[in-house]
Amino acid sequence: MPEQTYKPALKSKLPEIETSIFTVMSKMAAEHNAINLSQGFPDFPVSGELIDRIHYYMKQGYNQYAPTPGMPALVKAIAQKLERCFGFSPQDPAREITLTAGATEALFCVIAALVHKGDEVIVLDPAYDAYVPTIALQGGNSARIPLKQENFRPDWEAIEKAVKPETKLIILNTPHNPTGAILKEEDLKELQKLLQKHEQLWVLSDEVYEHITFDGERHESVLRYPEIRKRAAAVFSFGKTFHATGWKTGYVVAPPSLMKEIRNIHQFVTFAVHTPTQMGLADYLQEPAHYEQLPRFYQQKRDIFARLMEGSRFRPVPSSGTYFQLYSYADISDKPDTEMAGWLTKEYGVAAIPVSVFYESKRDQQLLRFCFAKNEETLKQAAEILCKI
Ligand code: PMP
Ligand code: GLN
Repeated sequence: MPEQTYKPALKSKLPEIETSIFTVMSKMAAEHNAINLSQGFPDFPVSGELIDRIHYYMKQGYNQYAPTPGMPALVKAIAQKLERCFGFSPQDPAREITLTAGATEALFCVIAALVHKGDEVIVLDPAYDAYVPTIALQGGNSARIPLKQENFRPDWEAIEKAVKPETKLIILNTPHNPTGAILKEEDLKELQKLLQKHEQLWVLSDEVYEHITFDGERHESVLRYPEIRKRAAAVFSFGKTFHATGWKTGYVVAPPSLMKEIRNIHQFVTFAVHTPTQMGLADYLQEPAHYEQLPRFYQQKRDIFARLMEGSRFRPVPSSGTYFQLYSYADISDKPDTEMAGWLTKEYGVAAIPVSVFYESKRDQQLLRFCFAKNEETLKQAAEILCKI
């Protein structure tokens, strides 16, 4: 393809960034009429009760701008949820919680608040695709440290070695997309030590899958740890928790000093978030079962998919959280994973995500990520195909 020339001349701020793999694979799945286990989204409905509450508030006239931090009723409900889930009750929720347009906006605002030109940020590979471009937009550099190959847990020694005076932020993600690994208490202890040693460091903790952990494992939020949360922003998403990824409603929790900076940016990115959705969520959060049943709900799906795949030549990598399951296809093909993902979609009609794209080095371990946030029927159809390969 000839290089595109624009007039007037346009200099890209992200010259190396290509279209997100989620867009690429979902488009390919649609074009080939494939079962889409690539991009992470549920194919089952949102609670009718929650939809009714939002509709109710629309009809009640809650249709104008919300306050920039969020509707007070929802901020209060989130504060109660933080206390219930993590034993953390913000001293002043009005200064420590902000509603955002999905976790994506929260990630953007936190990174923009903390990263100045020339600063460095530690990113652990494989990394969710939103972090690195956002760091680059602030003129920051990403220092990408691979997670341990055997279990996708952080290599704290390598991280410690990578910290320099200009390192201002470390980004963590638990439960982890794309691997399904989770941080354990000992990881948080290591993080605490790292923060004690390096006074300039902040933490951005992406916890959008907070309610999707398996086998009785507890979600290790940074908010559980007083010494860490003083220096951390934690990011959450109602899209994941209530099966509504299209609503793009999330929130960030941070100490007041950092939150002030985050809000200065948030007010000029979106100003505020969809008002009736916030009101509906405030009501829906009053019943903790609405989120506390999630581990069981998704563990069942993980286990159903695993059973259905037992007859296949794909080999599972243990998943402790998220609605993703990695499979190795090393026994089937030696194609690179991006090729394998395309081939599966086009020739067999099942779409998945290649894992190498989440590494700076494009490390190819012949792994594909499958999303099991699907009806049993969808999982059955997909597994039936995959078992024939
Ligand atoms: N972080 C991770 C790890 C994710 O998987 C997602 C989901 N796409 C997001 C952030 C963004 O969440 P949201 O859709 O609420 O913007
Ligand atoms: N988080 C979703 C995934 O990992 C996709 C989000 C997106 O499409 N941007 O599949």
